[in-house]
Amino acid sequence: MKNKAPQTSTPPPNRRPVFQTAGGLQSIKTRIIVFTLVATIIPAVTLGSLSYLQNTRFLNEKIEQGLRDIAAQTARELDLWIKERLYDVRVFSSSYIVSENLVTVLRNRGARLENLVARNMLQEYLKSIRQKFSDYKELMVLDLTGSLLATSESNDTPPVLPPDWKAQVLSKEPVVGKVYYDTQLQARVMLIADPILTANNELLGVLGVKVAAASIDKVLAAYTQTDVDELFMIDRDGRMMASSRQTATVSKAATLAGLPVGRLFRQPLQPMDYSGTDGAAVIGTLQIVPALQWGVIAQMDKDKAFARVERLQKLTVSLVLALLAGLGLCAYLFGLTIVRPLRRLSEGAEQVASGNLDVDLPVRGRSEVGFLTQVFNHMVARLRRSREELDSANQMLKEKNRALHQLSITDDLTGLYNRKHLMETLTSEVIRSGRHRHPFTLLIIDIDHFKQVNDTHGHQSGDDVLCRLAAVFRETIRDCDYVARYGGEEFIVLLTEIEPQLSLEAADRIRKRTAQETIHSGEESISVTVSIGAAFFPGDGDTPQTLIQQADKALYAAKESGRNSVQQTAERKSDDSRQGPIRLIEKN
Ligand code: GH3
Ligand code: MG
Ligand code: MG
Repeated sequence: MKNKAPQTSTPPPNRRPVFQTAGGLQSIKTRIIVFTLVATIIPAVTLGSLSYLQNTRFLNEKIEQGLRDIAAQTARELDLWIKERLYDVRVFSSSYIVSENLVTVLRNRGARLENLVARNMLQEYLKSIRQKFSDYKELMVLDLTGSLLATSESNDTPPVLPPDWKAQVLSKEPVVGKVYYDTQLQARVMLIADPILTANNELLGVLGVKVAAASIDKVLAAYTQTDVDELFMIDRDGRMMASSRQTATVSKAATLAGLPVGRLFRQPLQPMDYSGTDGAAVIGTLQIVPALQWGVIAQMDKDKAFARVERLQKLTVSLVLALLAGLGLCAYLFGLTIVRPLRRLSEGAEQVASGNLDVDLPVRGRSEVGFLTQVFNHMVARLRRSREELDSANQMLKEKNRALHQLSITDDLTGLYNRKHLMETLTSEVIRSGRHRHPFTLLIIDIDHFKQVNDTHGHQSGDDVLCRLAAVFRETIRDCDYVARYGGEEFIVLLTEIEPQLSLEAADRIRKRTAQETIHSGEESISVTVSIGAAFFPGDGDTPQTLIQQADKALYAAKESGRNSVQQTAERKSDDSRQGPIRLIEKN
């Protein structure tokens, strides 16, 4: 208590500030990536789509042109082919053997032998041609009613003739029938018939030739190219006449469902979309064969035709995606080069904001961020210096404050606590001891005849006596006790946590010790005595004022009793006498 050092209060610790961090679309890195992707997607998709559309158009045109070329070429070839066949048949029908023998047969219907001979000759002639030309399956001679007169085969059924054959024959025109399946020949055939005339241009009958439809198939097959799936010929009713595929579908002339026959014939060489025989989407175009007025259709599978377009589309999409991925990665890496130093910078700033000034960030590169980092480091260094200066100024101020405080509670002359500090201490001691129910004793010490000391030895010697006695009192009391200069040549001692009787003994020790002391001042040797008045807490009072008053009264009594003594209050003395033997404090 005696040497209690004044305490300094510490400031509350800095609370770590909370900052909003960059995230989501607000982040610079994300913005760079988004910007790059958008800046790539727009031109890439636009250019990709344009090039895709142009290429698609180009490929479409190529496909359609290919179909048109093949259809036209095949139609020309078939026209030529059929004309050759018509020419052949004309050559056969205008043979002298045919007309001569036919005349004989017609004239001698009744006469058996001549008739038989002529027929035989006709048959031989037909057979000889049949053997020479593999395209011709059967040759025959018919009369104007359509009855069979002779044939190259052992066939006795008349051929299937078109309904208007007679009119054509009468106008001496060749007749071309449709393709049909001949059960006796077991082949698809097409009948070409030509009138047989005498030298006088007289109509005798008809020479018919069953031409193998497989020959047309062959012509069609020869013109089929990689770009074309199928080439086939149809009549005006849409019935299949021949096909490059030579498959079962054309073994009997079948009507093709789904084929826009009317449209195809109306718009020759115009490519059209429709569904093929197997239901798949196809693209095809028709060209009319002039000699027959039938159509040749060049057709191809749409999926196959547009496989290249699809490949192109996939290539375009993968190129755009690869471009996006590449640029996205570049943007990400580029973003990192900006964001990393920025993040270092913001982490540094966060540390500074939370009070840590030991931050020195690495400066990399000569970018704006590098410059900012340098400025930041410089700023932190200045802050650090300022804080160091502030800290030392603070420290100095604290020390000065402490010294000032010490001064304000210290008595200049004796170095003891002054009256102000005494009153504060006494007030808190009353509260503390009251709370803990501990006793304490207040002593007022007054130097006897001090005025005489001054008068005899001078004021300076008086001061020396005061100083020395202060030291004596300090030495005599315990560490837990307290001494202050109350004013003039009066001192107050607080003896804490002590019973009255023991405190009186302590007071008496002070008195004796003082009386024994020889004080040297200059050449003077001075001895003084003290009178001491004691008041006990809580018995004599429980406030600073009452305690001092009671002690003062006791002091007065001590003076009255002849000085150099210790006295307690009169009331306590009478109590003590009632309770037991009172130990009077004797003068030395
Ligand atoms: P008593 O035994 O009755 O106490 O007699 P006394 O002479 O001590 O009493 P008094 O109260 O009349 O005198 C006290 C003197 O103490 C008066 C004053 O000049 C002197 N004094 C007070 N303060 C100081 C001081 O700081 N220095 C010096 N040298 N003298 C002081
Ligand atoms: Mg006095
Ligand atoms: Mg005095």
